Amino acid sequence: FAATNEYDLAVIGGGPGGYVAAIKGAQKGLKTVCIEKRGTLGGTCVNVGCIPSKALLYATHKYHEATKEFKEFGIKVEGLSVDFTQLMKQKEDTIVNLTSNIDFLLKKNKVDYLIGKGKFAGQGLVDVELNNGGSEQIKAKNIIIATGSTSNHLPGNTIAVDQEYVLTSTGALQLKKLPKSMVVIGAGVIGLELGSVYARLGTQVTVIGNTDRICPSMDLELSTAFQKTLVKQGVKFIMKSRVMGGTGGKDGCKVNYTTTDGETATVESEVVLVATGRHAYTEGLQLDKIGLETDKFGRVETNDHFETKVKGVFAIGDVIKGPMLAHKAEEEGLACIEHIVGEGGHINYSTIPGVIYTHPEVGSVGKTEEELKTAGVKYRKGVFPFMANSRARTNLETEGFVKILINDDVDGKILGVHIIGPNAGEMLAEGVLAMEYGGSARDIGRTCHAHPTLSEAFKEACMAAYEKPIHM
Ligand code: FAD
Repeated sequence: FAATNEYDLAVIGGGPGGYVAAIKGAQKGLKTVCIEKRGTLGGTCVNVGCIPSKALLYATHKYHEATKEFKEFGIKVEGLSVDFTQLMKQKEDTIVNLTSNIDFLLKKNKVDYLIGKGKFAGQGLVDVELNNGGSEQIKAKNIIIATGSTSNHLPGNTIAVDQEYVLTSTGALQLKKLPKSMVVIGAGVIGLELGSVYARLGTQVTVIGNTDRICPSMDLELSTAFQKTLVKQGVKFIMKSRVMGGTGGKDGCKVNYTTTDGETATVESEVVLVATGRHAYTEGLQLDKIGLETDKFGRVETNDHFETKVKGVFAIGDVIKGPMLAHKAEEEGLACIEHIVGEGGHINYSTIPGVIYTHPEVGSVGKTEEELKTAGVKYRKGVFPFMANSRARTNLETEGFVKILINDDVDGKILGVHIIGPNAGEMLAEGVLAMEYGGSARDIGRTCHAHPTLSEAFKEACMAAYEKPIHM
């Protein structure tokens, strides 16, 4: 081996899990290489996930505000229209801006970056097929698998994805023209966020879900309020229905479904978005060369230190168990490096926040009320509506509430926080921090919150959990 190809750490995958682990590894003094086949860094999140979807959600919300809300504030807008090509271009510019910044961060931290596909060649060995041709072999003491996930298709690919008419989230983020109608198969976070983008632009969006409510693992009160909001925004729902098949192409799409009562029906649309979840991605990694197999969901199995059964081989992010979220992948990247350098990293999986970036936003952390009931935990709850918050009323954004679930004993520790409302995602951080610190509703209820802010609703929900709020 040429010494240059020998590393303390090789990371396969340059998504939020992989690039964060690579930077942290280098910061801890490990000679590090990051291998990414996409050609740009940032993984699913920056290229075809979190960032482009948020760019479109933000832009279309601006449009919604201008068309529906400005007049209430005395702002007149005439001749408003959407330049769909520019809307998509702005999203692309954001991606380029962020991916190139990760390039810069790798350089700044002296992480070598190989653009190509990595595969195991044996213990401690990774072959990289370079995108520009040729290959290189890397020898590394520690290897992190951070190869992420990819979209599910329907079983048997019953409605074949072509990314033009039958789309996964990747295709839905790259449409060339605004569709008149869209059927979204799957009532989870990704389908609802993207459905909401197109609904705001005037597309008739119909969501088909196979459960009785959207986002079924969400706190029931929250998901009920969320579904009502989306219905008000013009999204149609066909729930308790399973898609059995269909067709799609330039002459239109047909989606056939069966309800739980056994009735069958067909819904037609210009495009179909298949948003039925994601699965771990390990294609072409040649895990067998080091004696690794995946579990029945295709995920790489690890211990609490992110190490696989093969010593020196670790895995993090979407490719292992747990919620498929960018911040979860990042935290695992950091903790994994801490284990590699002997510092003992730790993640508290019960305080991983989840946010849906629709408008209003929806954010949750910790236990749902249903989970507490099932577990027989004695709890109290405090709910405070934004309707009673002065800032929300001033901003004419009164939809939604903050719901706090606490232990029904002297410590009154916070067990769960569920928010639907303006800026829920940012506000949720207060709950996450309180839970991490083992804080109680009283701790927050007695903390001074700036007036007038939306965060006062958070404080008052906490007060409602142990006593009474003031403004309700
Ligand atoms: P990934 O980001 O998938 O990165 C893995 C990388 O590895 C990829 O770039 C891939 O090209 C590369 N790779 C794979 N195999 C190889 C190989 N053999 N050699 C070299 N490179 C390889 N999460 C949030 O937290 N918030 C959100 O708002 C959010 N929105 C989302 C919206 C959409 C539409 C989608 C699809 C996802 C969203 N997610 C969101 C989920 C988030 O994108 C993922 O959880 C996150 O990207 C996982 O990070 P990761 O590093 O594990 O994997």
